[in-house]
Parts: sequence; C-alpha cells; structure tokens
Amino acid sequence: MAKAISTRQTADDAIAPKHFLSDKVEHFTESVIREMTRQAMLYGAVNLAQGFPDFSAPEEIKQAARAAIEKDINQYAITWGAKSLRNAIARQMGVWQGISVDPEKEVTVCCGSTEAMISTLLAVCNVGDEVVVFEPFYENYGPDSILSGARPRFVKLRPPAQGSEEWMFDEKELRHAFDRHTKAIVLNTPNNPTGKVFTRSELELISDLCLEFDVLAITDEIYEHILYDGTKHISMAALDGMRERTVTINGMSKTYSVTGWRVGWAVAPEPITNAIRKVHDFLTVGAPAPLQEAGAAALSLPPEYYAKLAEGYRTRRNHLVPALEAAGFRCFRPRGAYYVMTDISRFGLANDIEFVNYLVKEVGVAAVPGSSFYRDPRDGAQQVRFAFCKKLETLDAAAAKLAKLRPR
Ligand code: GLN
Repeated sequence: MAKAISTRQTADDAIAPKHFLSDKVEHFTESVIREMTRQAMLYGAVNLAQGFPDFSAPEEIKQAARAAIEKDINQYAITWGAKSLRNAIARQMGVWQGISVDPEKEVTVCCGSTEAMISTLLAVCNVGDEVVVFEPFYENYGPDSILSGARPRFVKLRPPAQGSEEWMFDEKELRHAFDRHTKAIVLNTPNNPTGKVFTRSELELISDLCLEFDVLAITDEIYEHILYDGTKHISMAALDGMRERTVTINGMSKTYSVTGWRVGWAVAPEPITNAIRKVHDFLTVGAPAPLQEAGAAALSLPPEYYAKLAEGYRTRRNHLVPALEAAGFRCFRPRGAYYVMTDISRFGLANDIEFVNYLVKEVGVAAVPGSSFYRDPRDGAQQVRFAFCKKLETLDAAAAKLAKLRPR
C-alpha cells in the first residue's frame, strides 16, 4: 500500500533501528486522511479532507453527557458496553432493519466503529485468511487486514461512466475473489469514499457468495442515516441466511455528529460476539462510560431527528457539488454518506498527490488524494475526495477559493 505525502516522515528517515519494529507496520503508512487535517491546520486551509462535522452536536446529547458525568458515571462501564446503550442499539436495529438482537449476548460497544472493525478482524482472522474488500476503500481496512494477519483481496468498484450514475462492480470479478481461503468480506454501505448505497440485488449477490463459500460479512454501516435521492439502507444481516454470519458495525460519530467521542459497536451472533468481546477487553477495556449513557439518549431521539440529519446533508451536497463542477472537477454524485469523489483530469496535473499539495498550499482547501483509497496508487491518481460535513459558510469559503482553479 504505497502512499506518499511530501511532508511525511518515511521509514527511511526514521532513526529507530529496524529490528526494534514489527514487520507488520512496514506494510502501511499513517492515515493520509488524518495527515491532510494536519496540513489544513499548518496552511490555514479550509478542511474538506477528514470527515468530521464543524458544526455543533445536538444539545440534548451534550446535556445527557454532562448529566452522566455529574451523576458520577465516571468509572469503567461493563467491558462490552453499558446496558442502557446496548438495549438502545438492539431496539434500534429492530426499528430500522427488523433485525432482532439480544443486547446481553450479541452487542459489543467499542471505542468507535474503528475499534469495532479491528477487534472483529482480530477475533475472526487467522494468518493466511483472505478478506474481500471493495476498492476504493476506506483506508483503515487495508492496515486492519494486515494487523489481523489476513490478506486483503480487492474487487473494483468502477466509477460511473458518462451517462450512467452509479459505481458498479463486476459480478465475475467478485466471484473470482472468493475461494477456500476467504474468511470474510468487508462491506461499507453507504460507502466511503464513493457515496454508493448498495442495492438489495447487489447485497443478494454478495450474500449468495457468502453462503456458497461459507464466508462472514463484516459490514460498516456508520453512514446508515445519511441517504439521498430516495435511496434506502439495507443491512446485510436482514437478508435471508445472513443473520448468523454477519457482524454489523455502526457508531455514534456520523449519525450524532460526535466523531471525537469514540463510541461505536459491533452486533454479531453470540459465538462471534464472545470472541470480539475478548479482543476488545484486552485492547481498550471499554468505551468512555459517560458518553455511552449519552449514546443511550441519542439513540432515543425521535424519527424526525434522522429525517432532518439527511436533509441537512442533502443541502450541503447540493451546495458543494455545483461549486466543484464550476471549478472544473467532474463529480461522482454521492447517493449516501458525506463525501464526493471527483475526477481531476481536467486540471492536467501528474497525480492526485501533486494536486492536493497544490490545493492545500496555493488554493487554501484540503482534500484527500484518491490514491489513499486504492491498493495501487495509480488507480486513484486522477481522483480526489472532498467531505461536505461542514457548515454552509465553510463550504462557501471553500467554493470561493476553488473558483481560482484553472482547468486546462
Ligand atoms: N471516516 C472519516 C473519513 O473518512 C474520518 C476518518 C478518521 O480519521 N477516522 O474522513
């Protein structure tokens, strides 16, 4: 996974003798997304790189967190999660997806969905196992696979061709990625970075392969409520035969605009949950106790909250996409999540790294280079991702700066 941003220290610069370091960390770099946030701060650029809101979290949730601290819920929660939050998670999976969940035996609350994903992979993978991942992929899945000893097998999502609107995968290519070494498929829907929302027929195709090859589905559904254009989110666990072989990962970060709280969870059948809980216990002991109580309050917000959330993001998408198009980007219109992947070939720069460096330093906008979402950097060399989970005034400030760009 070769990735490079000019300011990053590389392994060659490092002073620590190589024999002090694990071989595993040789195979990936620090997160490019988080590096771009540091660059935005360094150059005073508008940060459309890392996906975190720059607006306030809902007042009711902040109040619930303050109240929990005041009530002295300040010691460890039960390692696999506060009962109030696990109950709320189980209830919500019933309400939104019709999936019945036992909060005592099937839920593990973790430090963000990030920890839920790595704990799950560590709990299910052996060295030599393979994990199927659609690419472009959220950059954590690469290192997550390596750290858990598994080998990622990438299957391409192809960008919409002129006239067609969706990122698509090839059925034969997907089937080809499954074999006797396949342990799991990691699926992120609604998808980061493409904005693709997998349809029922696509999910059925994937579930058929999971059943045929006896493979687990590990689904990252963190953008579940951020949907546009009438798309519907379908949980893999709701499909026939999948409940027993699916780990559903979600969290508070995106739905309640609290990415810094680090509260996420994994829902899985009891034997898999037992394994996830063991890994989670020794990795982190538990997620922040008062924020889990606030999580229970958040998951009890009325349905209008979710409609308003999606509407707010639709407005932001419809604000940023035309500004990017006017500046010369070709946009792949997202159907869900809060990112837009763009094609930068009209600007005539050698690659995405050169482009984002120019953008952050000279134009004053930070974005994520496309290559950080691909195994082979060349595949993303003419793509750049922008996050629009920002105030309209932030998006306007970015648009004003982007207007200075000159497509060739
Ligand atoms: N998921 C967010 C993104 O893709 C934030 C990533 C992170 O830094 N954890 O930008």
